Amino acid sequence: MESNNSRRNFLKKSAAIAMGTIAATSIVNNVFGASEYIEKEKATPDGGKFTLPMLPYNYDALEPHIDKLTMEIHHSKHHQGYVTNLNKALETVDGNVLGSPQSFENIFDKVAKLPTAVRNNAGGHYNHSLFWILMKPNAGGQPKGKLAAAINASFGSFDGFKTQFTDASMKRFGSGWSWLVVSKGKLVITSTANQDNPLMNLDSIEVKGTPIIALDVWEHAYYLKNQNRRAEYIASWWNVLNWDAVESLFAAVK
Ligand code: MN
Repeated sequence: MESNNSRRNFLKKSAAIAMGTIAATSIVNNVFGASEYIEKEKATPDGGKFTLPMLPYNYDALEPHIDKLTMEIHHSKHHQGYVTNLNKALETVDGNVLGSPQSFENIFDKVAKLPTAVRNNAGGHYNHSLFWILMKPNAGGQPKGKLAAAINASFGSFDGFKTQFTDASMKRFGSGWSWLVVSKGKLVITSTANQDNPLMNLDSIEVKGTPIIALDVWEHAYYLKNQNRRAEYIASWWNVLNWDAVESLFAAVK
C-alpha cells in the first residue's frame, strides 16, 4: 500500500530531479539509470529558484523515434518556459498561503488555493522532468520482475496494458498527459488535462496516485515530426520508454 511516507520520499526524489541538482557532467552523453537520479535526495529550493534539469541524453539520442528538433524545442523552450513562469508566479504568492518549503509536494497539496499560473507551471515543470527520465535510447520492450507481474495482474497482459494505455492517450481531448499511477496500492491508467497531474489535490483529478509512467500528448510533443498524427507519436514513444526507470519508480512507491 502507498503510504504518506513513501509518497513524500517519492516527491523528494522527483523534486531533486526537477531541481536539476544532479551534476550535468555525469548525465550528458550517458545512458543513465533512473536510480542515479532518484537516489539523490536533495532538499527543495526553499527560497531559491526552480531550474531546468539537464536531459540525461543528447537531443538527437531518441532518433529516429523522437526527433532532435522536437526534443530541443520541447526541452529548451517549452519546459524552460514552465520553469521561468513558475518562478515568476511564485513571487506573487503570499507566503502564508503556500508556507514552506516551495516543494512540489507542498505546491500540489495546496494547489487549489494557489494561482492558476502556479498550478499550470508547477505541473508543467514536474511532468516534463519526469517525462525526460522515462525515455532513453535503445529502450522499449517490456518490463521485468515485479512490475511485469503487477501489469499482468492489473491489465491481463502486457499487450492489454499497452492497448489500454494507448487508448487513454488517444482519448485525451486537446492537451494533456496520460499516466500509469500507483493509486491505493493498485496500478491504474489515467489521464489529466493541460499540465495537471495525479499528485494534485484537486477534485477534478479523477485518479490520484503516484505516477510511474508519464506520456505528454500535447501537440508540441509531436507536431514537428508527426503533425496531427498522435497515434504515430505514441507508437514511436513505446520504443524509447525506459522500463528500468519505471521499475525504479515502482519500487520506490512500494
Ligand atoms: Mn510538453
